[in-house]
Amino acid sequence: MSNNAFDMTDFHWLIDMIQSVDAGLIVLNSKYEINVWNTFMENHSARSSESIRDSSIFDLYPELKLNWLKKKIDSVFQLNNRAFSSWEQRPYLFKFNNYRPITGSEPYMYQNISIVPLNSIDGNVDRVCIIIYDVTDIASQRKELQNVNIELKKLSRTDALTGLTNRGHWEECLNLEYKRFHRDKIPRVLIMFDIDHFKNVNDTHGHPAGDEVIKDVANILTDNQRGTDFSGRYGGEEFVIILTNVTEQSALIFSERLRKSIEKSVVKYDDLELKVTVSLGISELDDSCNDTDEWLKRADDALYTAKGLGRNNSVLYSQTKH
Ligand code: GH3
Ligand code: MG
Ligand code: MG
Repeated sequence: MSNNAFDMTDFHWLIDMIQSVDAGLIVLNSKYEINVWNTFMENHSARSSESIRDSSIFDLYPELKLNWLKKKIDSVFQLNNRAFSSWEQRPYLFKFNNYRPITGSEPYMYQNISIVPLNSIDGNVDRVCIIIYDVTDIASQRKELQNVNIELKKLSRTDALTGLTNRGHWEECLNLEYKRFHRDKIPRVLIMFDIDHFKNVNDTHGHPAGDEVIKDVANILTDNQRGTDFSGRYGGEEFVIILTNVTEQSALIFSERLRKSIEKSVVKYDDLELKVTVSLGISELDDSCNDTDEWLKRADDALYTAKGLGRNNSVLYSQTKH
């Protein structure tokens, strides 16, 4: 028998192979009628090959006509090129339930799709084959990894004790705000504050009691700030906050409100009732400030003055002698 001759024996094992391959295979003619619907498709769609043969895929699945599939199929017919769609672009073409035991958490099967032109003997594309790959395992692992990465990023920016932004990430915010100021000239004020006589709390009641106080101060800071403010834990019992679109005078009002809230707060720890105060230094950014270090130093100088004046108060850098 010549190589070109049609061999029914070959044809049968070929069909067997198409039927048993672990991917969906659909062959459509130019009227979008189904010529082949393999076992994978039968099992997942619960439609037998006999029941749908020669029906248009868009009659069977009207929702597919509205979307990208028709355009893709048409382009494969016209250009004689393959087309692809990955689960990351579109999670699935056919909404098949996911029964896999390992990835049981995903309700639907994620699918990668290839559309392949099938040439007739005269070289025309008279059919296309849609290949559907079940990529649920890969997709769910990737999604899991993405979630872990988001969580890690959050953790690397967060101070574990207080949940506030940690110093490293806060300093990035400080740099950004400094740069933004030179573009938009919107006023920005930095407040730095420190718990007064905090060593006494640790020395008298122990480090864990001190930790509770630090957490309480952080909560009060968070409660008082607006969405546009950037707060952080700068050091042990030192905190920072950048207020945007605020003048020095209104920053002072904010600072005093924060100071009084902390002064009033009572931290219950075991059978103790702990109270602390804070001293705050306030510095509005202006053109005479050369860099972020200088901005920080001005707030720190004002804080130092506040400590020197007896603590539990707010001091503006602009009103200190310098
Ligand atoms: P001042 O009013 O001048 O600020 O006096 P102070 O006693 O608060 O002095 P200082 O700011 O130097 O003290 C910081 C203390 O904070 C020293 C350190 O042991 C303690 N500290 C730093 N980080 C932590 C922490 O995470 N938890 C606890 N419990 N204590 C901390
Ligand atoms: Mg202190
Ligand atoms: Mg300190």
